[in-house]
Amino acid sequence: PLAALQDPTLLKTQALINGQWVDAAERFDVTDPATGQVLAQVPNLGAAHTEQAIAAAAQAWPTWKALTAKARAGILMKWFHLLHQHADDLARIMTAEQGKPLAEAKGEVAYGASFIEWFAEESRRIYGETVPSTDPSKRFLVIKQPIGVCAAITPWNFPIAMITRKVAPALAAGCPVVIKPAEATPLSALAVAELAQRAGMPAGVLNILTADGQRSIEVGQVLCGSDTVRHLSFTGSTEVGRILMKQCAPTVKKLSLELGGNAPFIVFDDADLDAAVEGALISKYRNAGQTCVCANRLLVQDGVYEAFVQKLADKVSAMKVGNGFEAGVVQGPLIDADALAKVEELMADALAKGAKVLCGGQRATVVGSGPSAFYQPTVLANVNTTMRMAREEIFGPVAPVFRFHTEQDAIDMANDTEFGLASYFYSRDVGRIFRVGEALEYGMVGINTGLISTCEVPFGGVKQSGLGREGARAGLEDYVEQKYLCLAGL
Ligand code: ADP
Repeated sequence: PLAALQDPTLLKTQALINGQWVDAAERFDVTDPATGQVLAQVPNLGAAHTEQAIAAAAQAWPTWKALTAKARAGILMKWFHLLHQHADDLARIMTAEQGKPLAEAKGEVAYGASFIEWFAEESRRIYGETVPSTDPSKRFLVIKQPIGVCAAITPWNFPIAMITRKVAPALAAGCPVVIKPAEATPLSALAVAELAQRAGMPAGVLNILTADGQRSIEVGQVLCGSDTVRHLSFTGSTEVGRILMKQCAPTVKKLSLELGGNAPFIVFDDADLDAAVEGALISKYRNAGQTCVCANRLLVQDGVYEAFVQKLADKVSAMKVGNGFEAGVVQGPLIDADALAKVEELMADALAKGAKVLCGGQRATVVGSGPSAFYQPTVLANVNTTMRMAREEIFGPVAPVFRFHTEQDAIDMANDTEFGLASYFYSRDVGRIFRVGEALEYGMVGINTGLISTCEVPFGGVKQSGLGREGARAGLEDYVEQKYLCLAGL
């Protein structure tokens, strides 16, 4: 699939340290999850290269932070335009290594690019404050300064957007970055880094370390343990988030964490059912169910339960599964065999405890696909809270539909989890909209919509779903420190 790139030089197979494309004797395979085919090999870097990248970033920092915000924004805006110019190629690379349908990949390129534009704009509004003085001989000032060298460890489900959402605010604030992309999707990261080079990013300001699963642990240890690295941003599982938090404790590193979710998708009796079905399709099955804001539990009120599951199953049965490059395909493969095994385990558990399959429920056979990981889009009725999928993130195209009686039941069920990232509900009653919107213990609530992400609003979770917010005005705050200047002797 990569032979068809309009600009083949976007296919980078080296890491980027200090503005240099770097090779290593040890390399690892990047594969196409739809076919199992090896697409390329990239360097498998460890501790030594991580130290080099941190040193390069530290060296680049004084010059980068000394630029005016407008000058930094100028480079970011060039980068933004380059992403759009090369959107077709970036989408091809993404679909090849990640599996999502090409149209979704293109959507992600635009979404990923939007963070660069947004933070380029916001960089010119990193305002300080003057505080009314309590002493006539003193003046109180607060300025905001870049925090320093930043590290980002990113997942494979959004190979571009999860990088730009962390890196753009860091760069805009005046911080250099060291990025460790997911081992499954380094090619998208490297292509985006190549475009940053073309946009005029100075050497050392943006570094990318590629590493396989094993080496990623080593890279993570060095990034977390480094005194020079002042901030770590991570998106991934709660389990790995906890490890990184612990590793960052000795250096009291600032952290932004975007971890797992267990999103409820609630449909009340008074909902517009067709709209709710459409919202559920987007929220559940986008990216084959592999997003941290995917509906994990559908909670539907008694009065509309039968009608809702029927309508949903009808739509879901019509979804086309296949290679993301094929026209009309709306669901690609899962990322790998482990992801498939996890879905099958959760399904077996649910079926053993009485769940009923309304559609799907098995691996999908896709012609010409090799040993890949396709799963049929699935709807399950008769589910209950003893099933593992009531508590665990499914990260696959399976929609368990729970039944509830009262508004309070729905709120209690929705909040009965240690996670608190995204939530959704459908209702036409304005009182209920406020009551439920305020009662849900989640960082984000989609009301009558299954699609909530955009660069202008704060994305993030409460409880064990993470720390900090990405995007929005707030997204810059993690990358600056407030400094109080007390001016006396007037
Ligand atoms: P996912 O469930 O999305 O695969 P993970 O949390 O396993 O999420 O991985 C997200 C990112 O974290 C990837 O870039 C992966 O390489 C990295 N990672 C996984 N384990 C560790 C670790 N122990 N230390 C540092 N990085 C890690």
